[in-house]
Amino acid sequence: MSTSRESFEGGVFHESIPNGRAGATISIARGELVADTTGEPSQRFTIPLSQCKLDLGGASGRMVFCRTSDGSLTIFCEDRNFAKELDFQSGGVFASQLQALKKGQRAEASRFHFWLAVSAVALAALLILGYYSILGAAKVAIRALPVSVDQTIGNTAFNSMDVGRKLDSNHPASKLVEEIVDKLKPHAKIPDMKFKVTVVEGKDINAFALPGGQIVVYTALIKEAKSAEQIAGVLAHEMSHATLRHGIERIGQSIGVIAAIQLLVGDVGGLLALGGQVAQTSILTSYSRTAETEADLEGVRMLHAAKIDPQAMAEFFKMLEEKMGDLPDAVAWISTHPQHETRVENINNHKKTLESIEYEPLKLDLKAAQDAL
Ligand SMILES: [Zn+2]
Repeated sequence: MSTSRESFEGGVFHESIPNGRAGATISIARGELVADTTGEPSQRFTIPLSQCKLDLGGASGRMVFCRTSDGSLTIFCEDRNFAKELDFQSGGVFASQLQALKKGQRAEASRFHFWLAVSAVALAALLILGYYSILGAAKVAIRALPVSVDQTIGNTAFNSMDVGRKLDSNHPASKLVEEIVDKLKPHAKIPDMKFKVTVVEGKDINAFALPGGQIVVYTALIKEAKSAEQIAGVLAHEMSHATLRHGIERIGQSIGVIAAIQLLVGDVGGLLALGGQVAQTSILTSYSRTAETEADLEGVRMLHAAKIDPQAMAEFFKMLEEKMGDLPDAVAWISTHPQHETRVENINNHKKTLESIEYEPLKLDLKAAQDAL
């Protein structure tokens, strides 16, 4: 064994040094690791190479630590050549140890990266979950809102809309639809919902419901109907949109996360402002397919409960479908209510599940109402 050709910058941990550590010049001589501290007075520490327990560490992971077996003294150095020199001086004893330590470090690093990746994915999932749970909670919050909110939104929308000329409430057509609504009303899912039906002059065969129970029927729809029961079918469907709160649900789907948070903290103002806008556009024209099916089935239930044959609802769909050939633009109701074939089937299938009862024909003069238009 020889004396090292060079000395290295390093340090020492020992309890005899003030603060427990000091910088040191390190050399390897006569089978011993020698550290002379750089402070005044300089202290010399030695560890026989045969007693040196190696470890790697430091911020770089390249710092080599040599400890006595009792751990009371540590000499350390970060110089790249120190490890080589150490191994050379010890006759190759440390090479495999250092190799093993480095391997351990790499494994640890890859474990760290693995957990880092897992954490990143978990965090992303948490954020997405948070986003959707806010929206989800907003949906629940919307459902929990009193029906008066639906009414406020519906009335705001109705008053700001340019629906066309409204028929007088004494008009035979107005009376007809009102009587049908009165007959259906006791069977509505929300018993105290204030339904208000308005007949509006228009060439479109159309009808729609606003949140809260405002319903608009166009004169063309009354003119084209073959029976009062068919009008009852359309009205039951539209009333169901209101009682199933599809309008406000739809607003709930279109509000962003900010409005959802506002809603969760009890601020309905933003929703109301939004409601007026949204109600005029998307709500009137496009409910989801699920919502339409729900309104069909709920409509059938209401008609059945009111002893009005739900068959008329399906008939009306079929009639409009045939009409589509002649006046496609005017048949607005069917264009906002797609999938009619499936729906006719659904209505009929649903009707079959209901107990068979004697339906009572509506004692209403459709002819007189139509003649007055
Ligand atoms: Zn509908």
